[in-house]
Amino acid sequence: MESLSNFIGGQSVPPRTGAYLDNIEPATGRTSSRVPDSGPDDINNAVAAARAAFASWAGTAAAERARIMHRLADLIERDLDRLARAESIDTGKPIALARSVDIPRCATNFRFFAAACTQSASEFHDAEGWGGVGGGAGGVFSYTLRRPRGVAGLISPWNLPLYLLTWKIAPAIASGNTCVCKPSEVTPMTAYLLGDLLNEAGVPAGVVNIVHGSGPGAGASLVMHDDMPAISFTGSTAVGKWIAEHAGPKFKRLSLELGGKNPFIIFDDAELNGEQGAIATAARAAFTNQGQICLCGSRLLVQRGVFERVLTGLIERAKSLKIGDPLDEATQFGALTSAPHLDKVASYIDKARTMRGTIHCGGERVDPAALPERCRGGLFHQPTVISGLDPACPVEQEEIFGPVVTLQPFDTDEQAIALANSTPYGLAASIWTRDASRLHRTAAAVNAGVVWANCWMVRDLRTPFGGMKQSGVGREGGQEAMRFFTEPKAITIRI
Ligand code: NAD
Repeated sequence: MESLSNFIGGQSVPPRTGAYLDNIEPATGRTSSRVPDSGPDDINNAVAAARAAFASWAGTAAAERARIMHRLADLIERDLDRLARAESIDTGKPIALARSVDIPRCATNFRFFAAACTQSASEFHDAEGWGGVGGGAGGVFSYTLRRPRGVAGLISPWNLPLYLLTWKIAPAIASGNTCVCKPSEVTPMTAYLLGDLLNEAGVPAGVVNIVHGSGPGAGASLVMHDDMPAISFTGSTAVGKWIAEHAGPKFKRLSLELGGKNPFIIFDDAELNGEQGAIATAARAAFTNQGQICLCGSRLLVQRGVFERVLTGLIERAKSLKIGDPLDEATQFGALTSAPHLDKVASYIDKARTMRGTIHCGGERVDPAALPERCRGGLFHQPTVISGLDPACPVEQEEIFGPVVTLQPFDTDEQAIALANSTPYGLAASIWTRDASRLHRTAAAVNAGVVWANCWMVRDLRTPFGGMKQSGVGREGGQEAMRFFTEPKAITIRI
């Protein structure tokens, strides 16, 4: 059985703890590799390597940083099949999804921020005369320098493992920081494979360090490390809260991308039919990656006039999904990523039953007899459609993060907005209507950091990405990310 290693100072190194965790393949339930269960010593070594590399990397010309990052993107594209297969084995997601979305996006992340760092400019403010303390005649000008912060701590979840980790590494190193990454211990493989590619691309030793381990172990040590001024975290709201509580008193800069309970609002004038219509898109929003995307539309709010049509169409689509071995090219719906997570998803369906919700389809684990031999011990759950619940109940209020979608009817626009805003989360929303005025009104009124209209999960990497309320603090994407990873310094000069 393969034992993975940490990647520190450009070297593959075993954990100082000597301890390992089992890495389970969700499609089979079998251990596929062993992942280091690193501790504070490993984090200290990685931070030391990152600190040692910082001055040189921060002083490297942006054009050279960009050249290396493009080279890394080339290598990711070269290794597309190998990385997609590893991601599928680790997560249980269909290999077709890993090949078409996850891994290409990793390459795009590096290309996008490579371009960004060569095109960023300082802000400049010119003024004729000035008043106030120290005032006088003549002119002043001011400019703002943006300098890398130092060593950044990057912590990522298991649902889009390399996609979300590279979404952090790319802006961190593009803006001249070095970093220590802590990928999810549930899905470590592609981050492990990235180590060799970093060396092959010519990323200098110590610029990117990868330490594997548990959240409370390696993750918490990273958060608490005194030589780490910035932490970028994507994961659950509960862990985000813990990080805010512990890193806040150390005055670290925090970017927290957390959970969601995203409304998908269908008005009765919406285009319902076709592959880009509301019903097909709602099904994709509910069930892509087995519903394990923070942006999934898990609460369908449907105007009463089209409620039955949407419900029927959604059930049909849920039942027609091809569930199977994630490594089969034809599979559309794979396994859930871990046994505790599967139990959590099932517990919400039990709650829905107890509260007399109507379970229209799914609601159970997939019968092993319906799966290929290899997958009979795997973590498969049917796509599930539920209606008839109280909007205030836990199933409607809490993030399930699995293949479970609920429907609520509404009559007026005001009711739709009130339902949309009724949870503690505010990450994303999708609005479906052909009425432009209603569309703009609703988009402005919904409490969400990301709003799509007549589409879902169309990502322009230049736009700010993140949530409000318990969905997070700060924004990723484009200049927002470059700003997070740099410290502004305003310099004013009298002429
Ligand atoms: P999680 O919070 O359990 O873990 C995320 C990462 O944090 C893992 O690497 C984990 O090891 C680490 N961690 C756990 N405890 C820690 C601690 N005390 N200190 C430091 N690190 C710690 O989340 P998960 O189960 O891996 O991922 C699912 C969650 O991620 C969902 O809530 C989902 O909505 C969220 N998510 C959000 C976004 C977004 O962009 N907003 C994107 C993807 C996933």
